[in-house]
Amino acid sequence: MDTQKQYAEFLLPVAAKGAEPIVMVSGKGRTLTDADGKQYLDCFSGISVVNAGHSHPRILAAAKAQLEQLVHCCSYVYHVPAVGELAAKLAEITPGGLKKSFFGNSGAEAIEGALRLAKQSTGKKEIVALGNSFHGRTVATLSVTGNMARKKNAGPYVSGTAFGPTPYCYRCPYKLEYPTCDMACATALKDTIRQQTSGDVAAFIAEPLLGEGGILVPPKEYFEIAVGIFHEYGALFICDEVQSGFGRTGKMFGIEHYPAAVPDIMAMAKGIAGGFPLGAFIAREPVSEAMQPGDHLSTFGGNPVSCAAALANIAVLQEEKLAENARVRGEALTARFKQLQEKAPLIGDVRGKGLMIGLELVRNRTSKEPADKEAKQLRAALRERGVLVGVGGVYGNVLRFQPPLSITAEECDRAAGALEAILTA
Ligand code: PLP
Repeated sequence: MDTQKQYAEFLLPVAAKGAEPIVMVSGKGRTLTDADGKQYLDCFSGISVVNAGHSHPRILAAAKAQLEQLVHCCSYVYHVPAVGELAAKLAEITPGGLKKSFFGNSGAEAIEGALRLAKQSTGKKEIVALGNSFHGRTVATLSVTGNMARKKNAGPYVSGTAFGPTPYCYRCPYKLEYPTCDMACATALKDTIRQQTSGDVAAFIAEPLLGEGGILVPPKEYFEIAVGIFHEYGALFICDEVQSGFGRTGKMFGIEHYPAAVPDIMAMAKGIAGGFPLGAFIAREPVSEAMQPGDHLSTFGGNPVSCAAALANIAVLQEEKLAENARVRGEALTARFKQLQEKAPLIGDVRGKGLMIGLELVRNRTSKEPADKEAKQLRAALRERGVLVGVGGVYGNVLRFQPPLSITAEECDRAAGALEAILTA
């Protein structure tokens, strides 16, 4: 039986019907190859994961070496060198004095742990999140996710969660325009606390760039104002870098675009280990000290092979200057998409940072009616031409370009050229 038939018969429809109709058998650099030998330029990176490219030889070599030594003994029952080294490395590369890490297996697990640490550390119970946010698919992470499409059929959710307005300039919740808006979406968070909580707020959780919500980029003042408000109320800032971390936005972490806002806890996963499963949250002292033995554990968390791969991945990101490449290539690609926007009325907005770029598609530029079907058609047409992209946004109308950060100018040209050829045909 072939793979697609096996998916249809033996995997839940959520996987079988959700997956694109191709069977991938290998990946190298920015290229994925399917079972028929067709090659694709990967502009989605397994949802923003393989930032150093597929099968980077240094990451594979580190993982193989660890594989030969020790696969698992539980990194919380015994001390494991790769785990200690990675924790030290994260303390070095994260901003703002973040120091002590806990490793799990995924983004959702990292967020779960971060939420729990915030509650334990502050002794408070409530959480404020943002509209259009996405933090994972477990019950606690869906509770802080501001997207009905992701939450449907899984409630009721954890009580004590409030949502602040989405920093979404293209569809401003107050119908204002930046910068004359005076950052209403940020200052309104005071009302969110006053009107929707009992004041017992443990944390504000937010992504520096809202990824699944449609690659939304909050204005440069946003986090300083927002985090300042929560700190005033004695709440912590949990920065969700699961999608924006590890060079993706042109800096090692997305929040570094907002230097005045320092996270108390940061969650990461996806791009951390070059495709190996790993999640982590890191906290500053004394916040980190609230979790004592027995408070938290994960059997597979901090898997030695994943941690060894993560160390090599971070070394590659730094030595090959991939965040810088993401910045340069991202600026050029965004400029090219903006030119295309002038010729293609379907493109309502082009936004992003580094190689986290979203094209919001609309049927009408005045009413901004979301062009969701068109987004899926475009993704399929690009796939036919050998270019893989993602689709996201709360309306399902945002094309996502999130290629490996090692992408070349010529490859960016190919991706943009394919889109242009389809849109102007
Ligand atoms: N947080 C953000 C910002 C994400 O983009 C995602 C996944 O897309 C998650 C959390 C959940 O990560 P995972 O799928 O590894 O559980």
